Amino acid sequence: MPKNKTKNQRVKITDTVLRDAHQSLLATRMRTEDMLPIAEKLDKVGYFSLEVWGGATFDTCLRFLREDPWQRLRDLKKALPKTKLQMLLRGQNLVGYRHYSDDVVKKFVERSVKNGMDIFRIFDALNDIRNVEVAVKAVKSNKAIVEACVCYTTSPVHTHEGFAEMALQLEDMGADTICIKDMAGLLTPYAAYDLVKMLKEKIKLPIHIHTHDSSGLASMSYLKAIEAGAEMIDTAISSIASGTAQPPTESLVEALQGTVYDTGLDIALLADIAEYFRNLRKKYKRFESEYTGINTKTLVVQIPGGMISNLAVQLKEQNAIEKMDEVLEEIPRVRKDMGYPPLVTPASQVVGTQATLNILSGERYKVITTETRNYFKGLYGTPPGKIEKKVQKKAIGDEEPITCRPADLLEPELDKLTRELGGRAKSTDDILSYALFPNVALEYFEQRESGKLEPELLEEVKETQPPQVPHIPSLAPSEFIITVHGESYRVKVAGTGHKVEGKRPFFLKIDERLEEVMLESLTEVIPATAGEIEAKPTTTSVRPKATKKGDVTAPIPGKVTSIKVSEGNKVSAGDTLLTVEAMKMENEVHTPMDGIVKKIYVKVGDSVNPDETLMVIEKE
Ligand code: MN
Repeated sequence: MPKNKTKNQRVKITDTVLRDAHQSLLATRMRTEDMLPIAEKLDKVGYFSLEVWGGATFDTCLRFLREDPWQRLRDLKKALPKTKLQMLLRGQNLVGYRHYSDDVVKKFVERSVKNGMDIFRIFDALNDIRNVEVAVKAVKSNKAIVEACVCYTTSPVHTHEGFAEMALQLEDMGADTICIKDMAGLLTPYAAYDLVKMLKEKIKLPIHIHTHDSSGLASMSYLKAIEAGAEMIDTAISSIASGTAQPPTESLVEALQGTVYDTGLDIALLADIAEYFRNLRKKYKRFESEYTGINTKTLVVQIPGGMISNLAVQLKEQNAIEKMDEVLEEIPRVRKDMGYPPLVTPASQVVGTQATLNILSGERYKVITTETRNYFKGLYGTPPGKIEKKVQKKAIGDEEPITCRPADLLEPELDKLTRELGGRAKSTDDILSYALFPNVALEYFEQRESGKLEPELLEEVKETQPPQVPHIPSLAPSEFIITVHGESYRVKVAGTGHKVEGKRPFFLKIDERLEEVMLESLTEVIPATAGEIEAKPTTTSVRPKATKKGDVTAPIPGKVTSIKVSEGNKVSAGDTLLTVEAMKMENEVHTPMDGIVKKIYVKVGDSVNPDETLMVIEKE
């Protein structure tokens, strides 16, 4: 056992419980109010850093939790004064899913530092270093720490030499530490040893290893990486660890205890912290999928932890969870067509959604997302390997793909966004939230303005048949008759829940039985002011079923994000009519034929299903 303590080889630990661990296991749903009570103890541990921000947390805060992500950062900074805060930044994608202009990247970094961020772990999904350069320089100029990433993956075009070469370029760029970012848990112990050895020969910077325990190898890989000279590792407190998250902090602390690598962390204090999160985890049970455990299939399909649990959630939403295995098998094929991008955000979403659509639509590349199109246009950067020309042609036709740094094509955005937003922005941070997630941020600002923030429910909404709600003026306010499963009940509204995806659950008391039930489909019932109840049909039922060729439908259930035509417009087969967002990806819906837009049944914000007619196109 290595016991020579004269050399300081103490291993440093980054705990990911406040970011990657719950992103991977609990669909990123942990709320700030649940982080703050344990902050004092976390701050005493003596971690190298706590990963607390970035990745999917920003989006989830606004979209589902109705929290201001910037406020979370400020709160955590205050609650964790002694510990360095770390975030995950997707290079030119920041914490979003597309490239942002350089002025947005610089301002985002500046504001993150001002709000309390210390260490920026920066990566590009394609390992195209042109996409991290502006962010790296911005972090340096704001005097924060740059941890630059090499995204680890395996493919016919990836080698350890290639990774070491990239690390050297990142060192030259000014990185303070290098992270081997193994988002899919693909690193095996001996590969880790070889890779770190090779890096140690080429670069001088400390090496941080980030992996996931998806295939059960993570602790072993860390140990071998440490033996090869890695200085820092990412772990998660045991009660929210392992599986698709990081391996348990306490296990690594114990494993290294008494050796030259001793972390020096207090195992009793860690036990206290684990207890807190063990209890807390129950609160988020709804968000745990069956795909968060150890699954060695990840070694075959190379899917990152967070991506598997998100895929499961998304497939569930599409009522297609039984297609999971087929989607998992389609992912490597799509990845090959795209030149073997490492499967990390946003490339993982582009590949994952395209693979899902290839399966759900019953035909490969029948439906192509905007993101897939952009990928083949070169708008994400240069793929590591060669792309499949046939698929590229299907996606972008004869258009010439770009070869420059994608963000070189972007005009500055900040001034324009500031003007657009006007009085709705209360701060620069608001403008940045809007720059990253325009629709979601606007919804959040509106709710904040009205003083009623409506986070999603922690309990799953029970499924019921849409009841018929007749117009019954004779009933008292808040009382009416509904029909559920063919039976009529006189019911009384006992309260309403928070809105989830446009639906508001009502808690009802049913007649004598006085049972409380929740009926999400009563969303459109508006109790009138004086003694009468009005019922409106739900928006979904007013759209006719698609029956003929000119009936335009969505490829997948989702939300209408834009409409590109008006009634009376002339269109040619293949023109984009509208866009539908599903699984965080935007899908263009094209006209199936030449003709005139006869009727539009949807507006921006509507939720739509594939069997409904969204527009009608008629021959001239
Ligand atoms: Mn990760």
